Amino acid sequence: MRPSALFVDCYGTLVAGDRPAIEAAVANVVRRTGLDGQVLDRAWWQRFRQLCAASSGDSFETQRALELRAMADVLRDLGVEVPPAELTVLLEPLFRYWRTARPLPDALAFLRRWRLCPVVIVSNSDRLDLEQVLAGLPGVDAAVTSEDARAYKPDPSVFRHALALTGLAPERVVHVGDSWESDVAGALSAGITPVWVSREGVGPSGDVARIASFDELPECLARLPVRGVS
Ligand SMILES: [Mg+2]
Repeated sequence: MRPSALFVDCYGTLVAGDRPAIEAAVANVVRRTGLDGQVLDRAWWQRFRQLCAASSGDSFETQRALELRAMADVLRDLGVEVPPAELTVLLEPLFRYWRTARPLPDALAFLRRWRLCPVVIVSNSDRLDLEQVLAGLPGVDAAVTSEDARAYKPDPSVFRHALALTGLAPERVVHVGDSWESDVAGALSAGITPVWVSREGVGPSGDVARIASFDELPECLARLPVRGVS
């Protein structure tokens, strides 16, 4: 398949994942509260995902607001109150990562070489954060954030926002991303063919194409079956 546009996730796909930043933020909260880090880490993620799923349209809130609220909710459930201004400081490692993440070498090489169709970033992120990361990413033609679409992947409306921007039908597009839920399931729900980036090269992918590095993407795209009328 030769797509008319490549949609690509950013965090964890083109740039390194957020795990070290999450762990640094959780460690800050552990030092402040004495709570268990593993419990906090898991509960924070679960609450954040719930809030993202409920955040769309008129009730949309930025990723930064939702991360802060998710941690505040978790702490309150555990009987701890931390003032919002202080919580912002404790979670700063994550906010800094969103602004400063650098491209992975294979992704950078791919972006520098790829000429066959436009590359559009489709990212769960706040616009100002992504713009700072975009400065380090060559060969990107456009970007759609959750803030632009007022919804979070896997909500198909994020992908539909990007389709409307490019004027393309879903059959003409491939979406590449590292999250099974947000990228693979989200793209499928919008009728877009996904390519799953699993950098560990593990995990069942069924009918979904899987790559361990962007070095494999051109060959992977060439193997994908053509869909619809080209
Ligand atoms: Mg990602």
